[in-house]
Formats: sequence, structure tokens, C-alpha cells
Amino acid sequence: MTYDVLIVGAGHAGAQVAIALRQQKFTGSIAIVGEEQDLPYERPPLSKDYLSGEKTFERIMIRPATFWGDRDIAMLTGRRVDAVDPQAHTVGCDDGATIGYGTLVWAAGGHPRRLTCSGHDLTGVHAVRTRADVDRLLAELPTAERIVVIGGGYIGLEAAAALSKFGKHVTVVEALDRVLARVAGEPLSRFFEAEHRGHGVDIRLGTTVACIEEADGRATGVRLGDGEVLACEIVIVGIGIVPAVAPLVAAGAQASNGVDVDPHCRTTLPDVYAIGDCAAHQNGFADGARIRLESVQNANDQAMLVAKGLMGHQAAYEAVPWFWSNQYDLRLQTVGLSTGHDQAIVRGDIATRSFSVMYLKAGRIIALDCVNMTRDYVQGRALVVARARIDPARLADASVPLKAMIV
Ligand code: FAD
Repeated sequence: MTYDVLIVGAGHAGAQVAIALRQQKFTGSIAIVGEEQDLPYERPPLSKDYLSGEKTFERIMIRPATFWGDRDIAMLTGRRVDAVDPQAHTVGCDDGATIGYGTLVWAAGGHPRRLTCSGHDLTGVHAVRTRADVDRLLAELPTAERIVVIGGGYIGLEAAAALSKFGKHVTVVEALDRVLARVAGEPLSRFFEAEHRGHGVDIRLGTTVACIEEADGRATGVRLGDGEVLACEIVIVGIGIVPAVAPLVAAGAQASNGVDVDPHCRTTLPDVYAIGDCAAHQNGFADGARIRLESVQNANDQAMLVAKGLMGHQAAYEAVPWFWSNQYDLRLQTVGLSTGHDQAIVRGDIATRSFSVMYLKAGRIIALDCVNMTRDYVQGRALVVARARIDPARLADASVPLKAMIV
């Protein structure tokens, strides 16, 4: 079988390309090949309200099950693409099937990075990337009292917050000297550390993992670099992803950290696009550096860009990055990229649990983290887009609305 547009990956980006193509009256054939058994669903709730049991799987599906057939989008789930032949315009799947394409959209995201130490693959050691991962974790939860989360990034912290609500004893182990170190400034890291500690979560900073201890094939604890053993029944590993691009790279696509794409999300292979978590693109909000963004916004916006491009409306990718995280009753909203900032200005009183952190680089605003402060998030976006230069004392004055600073 050959499809006009073949999409690899039934996640946020893959689903959105198909949806956008049909919205724009694309009449050609479309198929999505997805390694997971499930129809496309939202990934963010996996570490938030799906993990805490507040949302069912049906409520996190990107579209109802009937949507895809109704729009004549073939869903080839439970099938992995292992090879790409760019000359023949075909892909090869793990079940031996060969599928042809006119255009290939690679939207395969990434797989959870695994620990390399002994015990990394024991029963009781979990990732939080797919619904199946979380269902396995939830099945073990009733018999677990102590949980160790390895990695103090967004996913690890969200999981810690959700699981501590169940009354579990949760410890977060972070190798760096603060949580969220790769994505946020120090004031935000310290705030979240204090919040977690206030909810009874043990946060261990500057702490490495030596191995996972076992008994009868099950994890029984995490041995730290200094020899201490944190006894536990469940280990959650949240140390990032490895972009799922091996078949494209084997086919000759240029790649670095992920597969390289141009401003139209084209790879170096003919008629092959890449979008979402796996696409390394030059981003204006990162001073033109080639980066991958792991966010729903990026997945959706790149999907929309490719769908429009295929319909003849070419545009370069220039969307402003944004992201959110929910932990306890805190809603963090981020706009821009704070990497490389040389100044972090707190706006408002951190003690009220409602404040923003403004990030500046060479005097210009490059990003904003807003905690329970949607007004700043909404109004500050324009300042990030404009890379506005504003007197830091004025920025710090929470009594002056950010919209009053937009010129
Ligand atoms: P994915 O959604 O990962 O989809 C890729 C799909 O491709 C997967 O189903 C995968 O199994 C499949 N696949 C991989 N290889 C192959 C292959 N060879 N053949 C066939 N199929 C393949 N972002 C936010 O903006 N806000 C949040 O609060 C937030 N929270 C998150 C919480 C969690 C627990 C996780 C895991 C992610 C979170 N993210 C969040 C990130 C966001 O979910 C991702 O950026 C987004 O899912 C990326 O979409 P994608 O389509 O590129 O990849």
C-alpha cells in the first residue's frame, strides 16, 4: 500500500499533521504508523491527572476513536517503522510490512533515556512516557509505600507531586545542585524545592545513583553514590529522552541531537519532514541555535507548518516557545527560552506563591516563568517576542502591569 502522506508516530505531532491536513481539505490518502497500541492521546497528563487518577484515558485522547476513520485517516497502530528507503519512497515495519509514501512525516518523538547502572531494567523500575508505562506503574502502586524518583526535571517533579497526594513517601534524587536546572533559573528551582519539601517530599540534590538494589528480580532500593541505600518498592526514572530517529539516520539523514530540519521542517532526505520532539531546528528564540523542543506547542506548531506547506502555503518556523507544568495547586506557565540568561528578576512576592521570574540576556527579555500568575504570562509574551529592553527595576515592580511596558 502507498499513501500520499505517511506519518510515523501517533503522538501529538503526528496526529496534528493528519488533523490539519483534513481541516485544510487535503483529499489525498493519509496513514499514521504508531508503535504504541493506543490511538493518539495527550502525553502531559501522564505525569499529572492521569497518574493521579483524576482523568480517565478516554478524557486524554486527542480525538474520539471514531474520528480517524470518519476522516479517512488510516491508523496503523502497534507497528514500528524500522527502516526508510528514501530512493524507493518506502518504509519497512517490524512486522515485515513495506509501506510506500509520497511524503513522509517523521513524528516519532523519543524514547525515555535509561539508567546505565546495574538494576536499570528490574521489575519496579519505571519510565513515564507512554500510557502503558503509567498503567504498569499504577498497577504496582497499591503495594508500594516508598518511591524514589530519579531526575528533578518537570516529569520527575510532577510525578512526585501526584504520588505524594496518594500518601506515598517520595524521594527525588537529582544529580545537579538544584531541580529544573536545565530549564529554569535559580529562584524558580528553589521555590519548587521548598514546595515539594513542604509536601513531605525528600529532595536530594547533588546526588548520584550508583545502582538499583534488587531481590528476586525486583527493585528494593536505590544505592546512591555515597553508599547510602534509599529503600523503596518503586523507582521512577525521569532523565530525559533519546530522540527516535535511528531509521532516518541509517537512511542518510543529517542528524545531530535529533534529525536536522530546515525552517520548513524538511530533513535532508527528499520528501521527508520531521517534526516535534525529534526535530532539531534552528530556533530564533535560542539565538538561532539548533535545538529540539519537547513541548506540545512545538509539536502542534510544526505539524501545522508542515500541513500548510503540503497545501502550498510555505512558511518558516518562528513560533514562540511556551510550556506549562502543574504541581500541587501550582500552575507554572513559561514563555520563551531562558537558556543563557544572565539576569533573573523576580516579579512579585515568592511567599505568596503567585509570582513571575523574568529572564534577561544582555538587557533584553528572553523568557518568563509565571507561577499562578496567568496575567503576566499573557501580557509578557509580547515582551519576549520583541526581546524588549526594559529597566529591571520597573520589571520587578509587580504593581505595574506588563502590558503597560509594551511599546
Ligand atoms: P510523542 O508524543 O512522543 O509521539 C511520538 C510517537 O511515535 C510515540 O507514540 C512513539 O511510540 C512513536 N514512535 C517512536 N518511534 C516510532 C517508530 N519507529 N515507528 C512508529 N512509531 C514510533 N509538554 C508540554 O508542553 N507541557 C507539559 O506539561 C508536558 N508534560 C509532559 C509530561 C510527560 C509525562 C511527558 C512524557 C511529556 C510531557 N510534555 C509536555 C512533552 C510533550 O508531551 C511532548 O513534547 C510531545 O508529546 C511531543 O510530541 P511528538 O509527537 O513529537 O512525540
